[in-house]
Amino acid sequence: MTPSEIPTLTVARVRQGLAEREFSAVELAQEALRFAQAENPKTNAYLHFCPERALASARRVDEKLARGEDAGALAGVPIAVKDVILTEGVRTTCGSKLLANYIAPYDATAIMRLEAAGGVILGKTNCDEFAMGSSTENSAFGPVRNPVAPDRVPGGSSGGSGAVTAQGTAVVALGSDTGGSIRQPASFCGVVGVTPTYGRVSRYGLTAFASSLDHIGPFARNVHDAALLLQVIAGRDPADATSAFAPVPAYTAALDGQVRGVRIGLPREYFQGLASETADLIMAGVETLRGLGCEVREISLPHTEYAIGCYYIICTAEASSNLARYDGVRYTSRSQQSATLGDMYRNTRGEGFGAECKRRIMLGTYVLSAGYYDAYYLKAQKVRTLIARDFSRAFEEVDAIVTPVSPFPAFKLGEKLDDPLEMYLSDIYTITGDLAGIPCMSVPCGRTAAGLPVGMQILASHFNEAGMFRLAAAFEGAGGAARLA
Ligand code: GLN
Repeated sequence: MTPSEIPTLTVARVRQGLAEREFSAVELAQEALRFAQAENPKTNAYLHFCPERALASARRVDEKLARGEDAGALAGVPIAVKDVILTEGVRTTCGSKLLANYIAPYDATAIMRLEAAGGVILGKTNCDEFAMGSSTENSAFGPVRNPVAPDRVPGGSSGGSGAVTAQGTAVVALGSDTGGSIRQPASFCGVVGVTPTYGRVSRYGLTAFASSLDHIGPFARNVHDAALLLQVIAGRDPADATSAFAPVPAYTAALDGQVRGVRIGLPREYFQGLASETADLIMAGVETLRGLGCEVREISLPHTEYAIGCYYIICTAEASSNLARYDGVRYTSRSQQSATLGDMYRNTRGEGFGAECKRRIMLGTYVLSAGYYDAYYLKAQKVRTLIARDFSRAFEEVDAIVTPVSPFPAFKLGEKLDDPLEMYLSDIYTITGDLAGIPCMSVPCGRTAAGLPVGMQILASHFNEAGMFRLAAAFEGAGGAARLA
């Protein structure tokens, strides 16, 4: 392995290099850390590194290999983790000034599983504060630059994880998705991003934003690596009562190219009036799928127009409740200038939270307040059921649904900062999957004339990640939308 190979490593290449004794896990970890630390100023994608932890993991892998044992599915693989996921003994800031010095006291289940499978965690990635945002500009630690176009955002809220995967400063990464925060940055950065079925991956140790919508999921440079990463972290966890009992199939075994006859639905509501380079690329991608033998038909998801309103009521309601714990008594830094306990709460929160968190706390408190609860929160929950039902009906007719991930590619830093509503509207295609709790992913689908990546979204029915990966891998293998005339 030469240093120049670091940014393009795949899980398979790491496995081969270790098996052939071309390099040790420790050597790889050292080289990967050196590269990531040198490259990071270009994007600000990592907030901090954890070299001691990385080297300790790598040493364990080398020891196992020396004893001739199986070192795990992710042995030696350099991994980055969004800074909303707890890592024992390592700073976990959630992109917030409030938690700037917070050291997590335990590991998230996903982290334990990654390391048990031989994964080497290099560091923690930048994100919108408490995962609220679509551009990573809401981080208290400065925005992330898109490695493909440094004057543009990487998407958000898992912008750091998207950026490191594209930049090559990690082989794979973990992000979190509540309304699109894995798929949208994956789309903007030109990598694969997966939001599994709700409950597929334990949320234990994921800092709560909107608990009924939060997911942990993988970023990778190819479908195989994303599928493998999900396989490692998925499955029932007694520490999360909402984690599912459903057995985890071997996702990588599903990548067999057998997609002939797969029925694909294009939701009318998502394509209406969509005339753009993004639309052209997605339609070229649909042609690729047709060329692979898929059957394409139009479907309807009639409640789509209510999705944004519904999502921003439910997520702000849950966020206002979840963020109540940051009160200056537990977890966070504390405002020093307060005469009374009430002042201490107010000042700590006033000084610590950024504008977007405050906006959501106010909106969420409002929709939950007596007198408004029925009109907003309860109504939104009913609409959520209708949206989920739209998908269940659609999956009686088709095996997968294909849409754009975002109406446009990566936008310029600062471009949408003054207009929160415009930022919210950009989530139109991704939030429905979260509301329905179904698996969905972004797979690269070519680039615009200006060279900006565009992602195609594939959605599948509950727990059918294997079918989704099969389609995505076949699409990737056929060159994605490379056939755009
Ligand atoms: N952009 C959406 C929001 O701001 C989604 C965020 C997320 O998925 N964490 O809420």
